[in-house]
Amino acid sequence: MTTNAPAASGRVLPTLNEDGSRRWIRPKPSPGKFWQRRRVVAYGLMFVFCAIPYIRMNGKPLILLDLPRREFTLFGTTFLPTDTLLLMFLLFSIIIGIFLLTALAGRVWCGWGCPQTVYLEFLYRPIERWFEGGRSGSLQMDREHARGQLHPRRLAKYGVYLLLSLFLAHTFLAYFVGIDRLVQWVQRSPFDHPTSFAIMAITTFGIMADFTWFREQTCLVACPYGRWQSVLLDRQSLIVAYDRNRGEPRGRGKDRAGLGDCVDCGACVITCPTGIDIRDGLQMECIHCTQCADACDAIMDRVGKPRGLIRYSSRAALEGERVRRLRPRVVLYPLALAIALGGLAYTLATRAPADVTVLRGLGEPYVIEPDGHVANQLRVKITNRAGGDRVYRVSIEGAPGSDVIAPDNPMPVAAGQTGTMTLFVMLAPSAFHDGERDITVRISDGAAFSQGVPYRLVGPESDEHDDQQHREDPKR
Ligand code: SF4
Ligand code: SF4
Repeated sequence: MTTNAPAASGRVLPTLNEDGSRRWIRPKPSPGKFWQRRRVVAYGLMFVFCAIPYIRMNGKPLILLDLPRREFTLFGTTFLPTDTLLLMFLLFSIIIGIFLLTALAGRVWCGWGCPQTVYLEFLYRPIERWFEGGRSGSLQMDREHARGQLHPRRLAKYGVYLLLSLFLAHTFLAYFVGIDRLVQWVQRSPFDHPTSFAIMAITTFGIMADFTWFREQTCLVACPYGRWQSVLLDRQSLIVAYDRNRGEPRGRGKDRAGLGDCVDCGACVITCPTGIDIRDGLQMECIHCTQCADACDAIMDRVGKPRGLIRYSSRAALEGERVRRLRPRVVLYPLALAIALGGLAYTLATRAPADVTVLRGLGEPYVIEPDGHVANQLRVKITNRAGGDRVYRVSIEGAPGSDVIAPDNPMPVAAGQTGTMTLFVMLAPSAFHDGERDITVRISDGAAFSQGVPYRLVGPESDEHDDQQHREDPKR
């Protein structure tokens, strides 16, 4: 028994039929001037994406996001989890940069630079069109698919997709494990490294599923950026838009008396990779890819009308308002961006080659040794940011006559790693005033790094010490 789902009463996503089933989008390419430029940008970005794992800067990978070790190398600089301020400035810079770019140029990132658009529109879809015979061929195979038939050419396409996804997954993972480790993974049997093999298989599956099945839905339902547009765009922001004043009333036919320039041919709709009709106005689903602008320009050429019925414009310009390049967000965002980038540059320039924390030992604050000395336990935590392995020596200043017991001193720490050294500082009780003694813990690597950390030792108060001496020697 089959049941029909009730039809939606309102507007549904362009990738859904009214009963909620998937509507496959098979856009027809529109090789106009924007498409030509986007193609150059897209293949340039693909090349950069594939080349980055092989590029080194300052002896390090250009980009390496080592999650297990929590190290992030960007352009030759390694960020550690303790670089809170740096990471905060970096994150702020990226977020404000996105805000600024959107305020100035709308969703230019979505249409021109986002990997989802770049790979789907300039790699996966062209392959699909080649195998399936263009839009009409794909639609025909969709109908066959609905009847349970899988065309051999579509099957072959999936084979090529799989190889492509494997390659992209390997390249993507090189950003996280480094190209050297990746080569080792590839050369060894999967049984020797089941975890890394599983990571690779899952990544390949994710890429394959995204570009084969999920496609434009990533932009429409998964990506949060599209949802921010209502606050990021203002009336002056650059958008891809249909000029309603010029196009309406739309209509077909040779007799165009009383009609606008839109000949209602639908070319802008069948070329749209998200399946929308730009003539309905600015929509969250529009990724500003300009395909409809190219499609419409070709139609305008054919009917002898000026190009640009669909073009880059702004809501204000289209509605005849004054175009204002200078507006509060265009001033405030660059200011905020300059502050964030300045903070990032300053923090980077003044960053020490090691991060040192001196902590009190666990348990009692101090212990009186049998020989009467006061022992304080310290823990010295050192994070090596020097870019190479280092050996750190810890010494005590400001406590003459003290003994330091530290079995791990000096302590080697590998680049980017953190080591903790435990040491005991032994001091005569007379060295304490009111139960305290200020000292400096000095950490040096024997080369450029030397840092003194002020520290307060604790010991017995004078009276407490006398009482204890008395208990130990009642004759006193
Ligand atoms: S392509 Fe241009 S002319 Fe054709 S329907 Fe779209 S807006 Fe109208
Ligand atoms: S409406 Fe035009 S610009 Fe927007 S996604 Fe569709 S084709 Fe691209």
